[in-house]
Amino acid sequence: MVVHRGGTRVVRSFKPHFVLVRQNLRDASEDHKNLLLGLKYGDIPSINSLQAIYNFQDKPWVFAHLLQLQKRLGKDAFPLIDQSYFPNHKEMMSNTKFPVVFKVGHAHNGAGKVRVESPNSFQDMASVVGVAGAYCTTEPFIDAKYDLHIQKIGTNYKAFMRKSISGNWKTNVGSAMLEQLPLTDRYRSWVSAVSQLFGGLDICALEAVVGKDGKEHIIEVNDSALTLMGDSQEEDRRHIAELVCAKMQHCCKPAGSSGATAAGTAGAGAAPEPAHPPPPPPVPPRPEEPPAPPSAAPNGSTVANESPSPGRRRDSQASQSSSVSGVSSTSAGRTIQTAASVDTARTSLFGRQGSVSQGDKDDTEDTMTNLRKTFAGIFGDM
Ligand code: ATP
Repeated sequence: MVVHRGGTRVVRSFKPHFVLVRQNLRDASEDHKNLLLGLKYGDIPSINSLQAIYNFQDKPWVFAHLLQLQKRLGKDAFPLIDQSYFPNHKEMMSNTKFPVVFKVGHAHNGAGKVRVESPNSFQDMASVVGVAGAYCTTEPFIDAKYDLHIQKIGTNYKAFMRKSISGNWKTNVGSAMLEQLPLTDRYRSWVSAVSQLFGGLDICALEAVVGKDGKEHIIEVNDSALTLMGDSQEEDRRHIAELVCAKMQHCCKPAGSSGATAAGTAGAGAAPEPAHPPPPPPVPPRPEEPPAPPSAAPNGSTVANESPSPGRRRDSQASQSSSVSGVSSTSAGRTIQTAASVDTARTSLFGRQGSVSQGDKDDTEDTMTNLRKTFAGIFGDM
């Protein structure tokens, strides 16, 4: 990191004790692998494990592991969508039933996903894949009743149904209605199986498309960068915080006490650390914020205006506002997510849906204050 001290630029290195990764390692226009490699050099404990995060760099790599799971569990028990992988455009053939869905390269938030209706369009898309220089997968387009999202945060599991209301075949683009579903044994078994991948996933989410015929098709798995959904986001964040605390209790004990791992085992080039690093400063209490009434939609649902910006999380705003208000925002357990404008829809191509709320700003300021205090304790005033 670079700090400016009395006009002088000072480069320092530091070593975090623990990292929670809530951002995709890679996206359409981003690649943070360099940072991940640095964290691995420092053997930094994290959620999910660095090993697991590394394995989520390429969607086809994850899907290949899902195929192995399906081999073990059977097609009925683990109904994976029928997907083909093409390393480049040269091998792409169109002897398939239409429509198909092209998924080009590694990207999130619906980016690079194209519905193709005919052999001619298939060839057109193949040429785009060639120009992009990316790998590509194709799979049958499912005429969907709704999407299923089953998430696991530690030992807490939840299932959601997401339905497009703006007519976009991608339910993560435009407006969608969200409803929490009971977690059936079947859903639990899917996400439990998936959570054993890559040495274990503390946090993960499985996504499936349910066709109009009621058939389920698992399409993908996301890691600890999963999108939090609906009105229970605040609860989910608490679960994540508890998980982080529990893991830090286990692996961040001071050197000398049993169970200590990374703290104190400096990686190459790390700045010398004091034998007993000062405890982190207490987090100042957050001032009470005035309750903001949730905007009501027909049928007791809640409208959430997504105003995404690149690099920000896309957790739906319904619960960001409910986190501010502390008011449960729906009665029927439903949330409607909408893209606020064409502009925001465009930015959501490359950023996570979400918005900068007052709460976010306060968080940033609190964090910066705490960081400054911590670094002042370690390195002297900066
Ligand atoms: P994420 O941000 O979750 O990583 P993504 O960019 O990987 O999203 P997908 O989840 O693969 O994109 O697809 C986006 C949406 O498109 C899905 O939520 C689903 O609504 C729709 N979708 C994806 N594949 C299919 C398919 N084969 N048939 C019908 N709809 C699909």
